[in-house]
Amino acid sequence: MDKPINDKAARLKLAIQKSGRLTDHSLDLMSKCGLKYSRGKDQLICYGENMPLDVLLVRDDDIPDLVQQDVCELGIVGLNVIEEKRLAFEAKGIKPLFEQLMLLDYGKCRLSIAVPDGFEYKGPQSLAGKRIATTYPNILARYLADHSIEAEIVTLSGAVEIAPRLGRADVICDLVSTGSTLLANHLKEVETILLSQAAVIRTPVPVSEAKQDWIHRLAVRIEGVQQVKESKYIMLHAPRSRLDEIRKLLPGSESPTIIPLDGPGDKVVVHAVCRENVFWETLESLKKVGASSLLVLPVEKMLP
Ligand code: ATP
Ligand code: ZN
Repeated sequence: MDKPINDKAARLKLAIQKSGRLTDHSLDLMSKCGLKYSRGKDQLICYGENMPLDVLLVRDDDIPDLVQQDVCELGIVGLNVIEEKRLAFEAKGIKPLFEQLMLLDYGKCRLSIAVPDGFEYKGPQSLAGKRIATTYPNILARYLADHSIEAEIVTLSGAVEIAPRLGRADVICDLVSTGSTLLANHLKEVETILLSQAAVIRTPVPVSEAKQDWIHRLAVRIEGVQQVKESKYIMLHAPRSRLDEIRKLLPGSESPTIIPLDGPGDKVVVHAVCRENVFWETLESLKKVGASSLLVLPVEKMLP
């Protein structure tokens, strides 16, 4: 045996953000994966009641460290934080150990450079010699190095968007989703340097077989939850002769189930799982090629 087996406790620990943009989505995801939990008195741990899984509530910036140090086997955090930590570890000569397990469909944003109204921006070279305020100094430094730009990085812990008005910086590098914060602060987005969304990270340390089995089960359930969000189950009656046309109209469906309808005539029943939303326009088109008795149902759970 050459690899250490981590079974210091029989329960898996997952770190998520305590209070912020990722919190509700992450707790909701765990509930949809079947986790029932009670929240501890200190509000810092949710104890799983029906799975050997506890959820730790911490600041998002601490999540990669907790997984790196193997305090938690799993963590949910934005790619922006993962990338910043990875580069920070590398700068210190520490090998980043956390591994990305899967991407999640929330927390979408981008790390962008924004300049104040009136700033004449002609491309990345316009940043040369400027002071750039950010909470992501390592990602920004890599971007500047990649573009051979020399600029001063002003590292702040928050409120980056007001730095130009306070005279602390000339331009900023900050997270943007809708752009309304930038607009309110008279800033214009000029470059995107990182696209981000939430992701699950895991410890690279081998865990006990039982824990590994639960990590796998959780990953499969998360995939399932993400897939059903857009999926619909559609049922309809159709003349057998129009099946080819109908198949082409069903959005994102694999082979539908065809069942003959009782009675005379060549009518069949078509059942299909559509991996995209089914809009009224689709139903109208299906009707035009002879479909009738159309029924669209939400899908609750799916397991490949
Ligand atoms: P904490 O107290 O946990 O450190 P925070 O202020 O760093 O919280 P939030 O603003 O809640 O964090 O954002 C958490 C994560 O949500 C970000 O790191 C990012 O991955 C994602 N996110 C999505 N959209 C945005 C956005 N418009 N602005 C900032 N973060 C966003
Ligand atoms: Zn944070």
